[in-house]
Amino acid sequence: MEADELHQQVAELREAVVALRRELHRWPELGFQEEKTAARVAAELRHLGLDVRTGVGKTGVVGVLRGARPGKTVLLRADMDALPLQEATGAPYASENPGVMHACGHDGHTAILLTVARLLAARREALPGTVKFVFQPAEELPPGGAQAMIAEGVLEDPPVDAAFALHLWNSLPVGQIGVSAGPIMASADRFQIRIKGVGSHGAYPHLGVDPIVVGSHLVSALQTLVSRELPPLTPAVVTVGKFHAGTAFNVIPSEAELAGTVRTVDAAVRQEMPARLERLVRGLAAAMRAESEVTYTFGYPVTVNDAKMAALAAQVARQVVGEANVVAPQMSMGAEDFAYFLEAVPGCYLRLGSGNAARGLVQPHHSALFDFDEAALPIGVEVLARLALAFLHQET
Ligand SMILES: [Zn+2]
Ligand SMILES: [Zn+2]
Repeated sequence: MEADELHQQVAELREAVVALRRELHRWPELGFQEEKTAARVAAELRHLGLDVRTGVGKTGVVGVLRGARPGKTVLLRADMDALPLQEATGAPYASENPGVMHACGHDGHTAILLTVARLLAARREALPGTVKFVFQPAEELPPGGAQAMIAEGVLEDPPVDAAFALHLWNSLPVGQIGVSAGPIMASADRFQIRIKGVGSHGAYPHLGVDPIVVGSHLVSALQTLVSRELPPLTPAVVTVGKFHAGTAFNVIPSEAELAGTVRTVDAAVRQEMPARLERLVRGLAAAMRAESEVTYTFGYPVTVNDAKMAALAAQVARQVVGEANVVAPQMSMGAEDFAYFLEAVPGCYLRLGSGNAARGLVQPHHSALFDFDEAALPIGVEVLARLALAFLHQET
């Protein structure tokens, strides 16, 4: 009964959630600068009668919906930030903020969560427990907004029992939902390497120590951290994304700088990587008479779905899109700061299919041509709303 009624209400809100997404899409804002977006979100949450806190983790917004009956507390999270690129979709609702674009679908996440708030606020009298609607800044900008919001108490008062979030996913067709237990997104850490050699004339390499040659060996050698040091079935990535050295064709410079990222899907492997990388850099540089300096910075941790919460999410997803459309997605080596919420409380991060090949909506996230099938929006609304209700009504 309740489920059918909810489905009907979601159908009635379809145009509203699309309009809201397009409104947000027109005015994208970068991480920790989501002023207009946050103001819009806060106004809507206040209008719904929620307790609203703004400025949480700089530009984050939290709306608390206290049900009329006692119960548990569930947190639902949407990220609000956009990316620094010029939109090239030509859509009628394209970005009106030059050089900034919602190219990851966070406009959709925000529109979905506000619509879920609308649906659940109307059920306050029958609601057992509390729903926290968390609108987070700066997911795209490590160290990110999640940590900042947690540091400012978003998981307390009342303490959160479970957390859920979803991400629009263009490599999954609209109408499908990806749910799985365990690791779903990788950790994303970064390193910087400075090779100190001795500058010299290009014709007299023996009078110097060439940091470019050392750095070139390092780029190859770093790959062995994965290919020769980790078990073949343990996923990891080491990428050197930056290699700067030299000013002239006939001069051996005195320094080279490399920077890159390390991705892992296992917390223990992740902890070992800085020592492994430093050992290799130091040893190889020393063997070639150079000095080296390594800076290693941990970023977002591995995003790990709790087994029970993933099972609940899959059960709810099957009710919304049918058994055949709930898939176990492949692990992604991308990263996500919802990981911090899932380190603190059990929960699940879902992938919401939003691709549509027939309509050409298959551009990758972070592309200037990115857009998604808006038919995903009401599906996302129904899944999150039902998931919150299912969790709060669960016996244990
Ligand atoms: Zn992104
Ligand atoms: Zn994203």
